[in-house]
Amino acid sequence: MKQNYLITPIDYLKGVGPNRADLLKSELKVFTYKDLLYNFPFRYIDKTKYHKISELENTNSYVQIIGKFIDLKYSSNSKFKRLIGIFSDENDEIEIVWFKGTKWIEKSIQLNKKYVVYGKLNSFNNRFSIVHPESEILEKHNKSLKNSLLPIYSSTELLSSKGINNKLLRDLVYNIFENSEKTIKENLNRNLNEKYKLIPRYEALFNIHFPKNQLQLSKAQFRLKYEEFFFIQLQFVFKYLINKNKFKGFNFSKVGNFFNDFYNNNLEFELTSAQKNVIRDIRKDFSTNAQMNRLLQGDVGSGKTIVALLSCLIAIDNNYQTTIIAPTEILAQQHYNSIKNSVEGLKINVEILTGSTTKKERINLFDNLKRGQINILIGTHAILEDKVIFKNLGLAIIDEQHRFGVAQRSKLWKKNNTPPHILVMTATPIPRTLAMSVYGDLDISIIDELPPGRKLIKTVHRTDKNRLKVFRFLKDEIKKGRQIYIVYPLIEESKKMDYKDLMDGYESITREFPKENYQISILHGKMKNEDKSYEMKRFKDGETQIMVSTTVIEVGVNIPNASVMVIESAERFGLSQLHQLRGRVGRGSENSFCILMSKYKISNEAKIRIKTMCNTNDGFKISEVDMNLRGPGNILGTQQSGLLNFKIADIIKDKDILELARQDAKSLITNDPQLRHTDNQEIKNEYIKLNKNSILWKHIS
Ligand code: ADP
Ligand code: MG
Repeated sequence: MKQNYLITPIDYLKGVGPNRADLLKSELKVFTYKDLLYNFPFRYIDKTKYHKISELENTNSYVQIIGKFIDLKYSSNSKFKRLIGIFSDENDEIEIVWFKGTKWIEKSIQLNKKYVVYGKLNSFNNRFSIVHPESEILEKHNKSLKNSLLPIYSSTELLSSKGINNKLLRDLVYNIFENSEKTIKENLNRNLNEKYKLIPRYEALFNIHFPKNQLQLSKAQFRLKYEEFFFIQLQFVFKYLINKNKFKGFNFSKVGNFFNDFYNNNLEFELTSAQKNVIRDIRKDFSTNAQMNRLLQGDVGSGKTIVALLSCLIAIDNNYQTTIIAPTEILAQQHYNSIKNSVEGLKINVEILTGSTTKKERINLFDNLKRGQINILIGTHAILEDKVIFKNLGLAIIDEQHRFGVAQRSKLWKKNNTPPHILVMTATPIPRTLAMSVYGDLDISIIDELPPGRKLIKTVHRTDKNRLKVFRFLKDEIKKGRQIYIVYPLIEESKKMDYKDLMDGYESITREFPKENYQISILHGKMKNEDKSYEMKRFKDGETQIMVSTTVIEVGVNIPNASVMVIESAERFGLSQLHQLRGRVGRGSENSFCILMSKYKISNEAKIRIKTMCNTNDGFKISEVDMNLRGPGNILGTQQSGLLNFKIADIIKDKDILELARQDAKSLITNDPQLRHTDNQEIKNEYIKLNKNSILWKHIS
């Protein structure tokens, strides 16, 4: 029985009756002793700190004062009868107020005896008071000062209204500890305990709730954060190994004519060494008999597409089909055009499947696909649908992964009996720690170098009052033969207004850049796909000089001659969007510019974003700033942020601990892949407990 102490239902805890049990379950998701134990305080109040009445300020929330009650009387000048105590430290006085239980309080308070009162400070007309404080005779207080840091738990309105307050939660947690010393077991091993001088788990859990002092609290926090990271990383490492061992992958060890012909005849430039390294990584994965699961991170314009195509050619050399999935129709179309173009002369059949592929076209396409007649199928997520059946899909590439959820990634696995190799590509550089927490089961390659000859994109911030100057600059650039993007925000909530802004903007630009001299394209989400493609093509072919658009052009569009990006209402865009948009220029050999237009008055956060953009072109730096501004969950989007629901660890603040935990998890599994060593049994037990519902364990053991 003892072993199961922590999973005892909360209903059985001393102090918890049926009503409270229901509330704890519904409000705090506390079902067992363990849940309550792991409902950590979110802050602590330092009880060794005492305030002087003369030094109280409006900004103080909770205060603790030593003094004497010098008077105690009832006041009835309001609707309710109140008991008011005048509490005095050396020179100053403050009112202490009680509404409830006044009779009992009146009897128990001793005048002119030293007390400690602790409570929430109210201020009204510059006069301070405390309502219903905790009060204790000083002598007793000094004796009973068990812990100097008072834990504060998060609560809900319903809980407080039903009397489940902070003090009660504290008492309940304390009750768990009353006879549990022997039942809170260790869950790491001797090696790790010694390496970090970890305090025992029991002590860590006790001190996280009832810290004796700041030092003990820090030790407890370190241990619990470490544990939390460690077991997640352990899971990633296992998953990674299982992918490698259990899921046999196709062996593409042959590099044949398609790859070589293309490399020798069709490739128009020398690959950067970063690109070569990635190709090398991928070729290595292809020849290991294990399924590849690789994430390719590379800033906008770093040349991921060619890496994708070369990988496809290797798969095709080995008689397998490939697919490239893009997040938008425009992008899919662009990949299709450029890839079809660049494989000209090779006997490779490239097809496209998107939402606007007609029924008739589909019938034909599905048929060819099943018979293995299509080598590269490019498209949107329409490809993921069950109806789309390949003869032998060997490699699936997902472009701009941040728009895809994990679920979609796993859908690809089911296209064959043997899962295809998977390469996901993202242009949103993810800070290392975030990548480790979310893509811990993937191998990661990084292209950290732009093709040669690229110039930095000069980025400036301008407000409406500079508009005429900006227009003059644009005209000069057009005269030099350059093309220009002007982008308007389109935010889901204010769609109507945004379309109006776009149309107003378009109109004023057509006035400023009259038809006789300038041709202007417009592109937005409400247009039909064929109209979009038509406008895209006109711009791409240089028939129009200006492209006015919403963010539909955000991802991946590649037009090297466009060298100026004007972003209207730049204060409304997020950092990663701004960076993506800016990445549309600077693709040719000309000097490129990004002009961030905003109102004169903008929020502080918007200022930081715009300043960051003006100061750096480095996507990784930008994503660090972004993560610090918005938190890691928001960077990933809701689909993946669930992976970041940590109880105590924080991947920004605790990134050093995360690094340690990852390294330790890796070396543990390297040395003892089955966790057979006696020293590792506690880790194994905890891991099994944490992953009871996961199929992973079965594969390992
Ligand atoms: P992204 O990584 O953003 O998808 P692309 O693959 O669209 O970038 O490449 C951007 C541009 O750079 C394309 O025009 C591509 O042809 C070109 N490019 C890619 N690699 C090189 C290289 N090694 N040398 C010169 N140009 C390159
Ligand atoms: Mg791209």
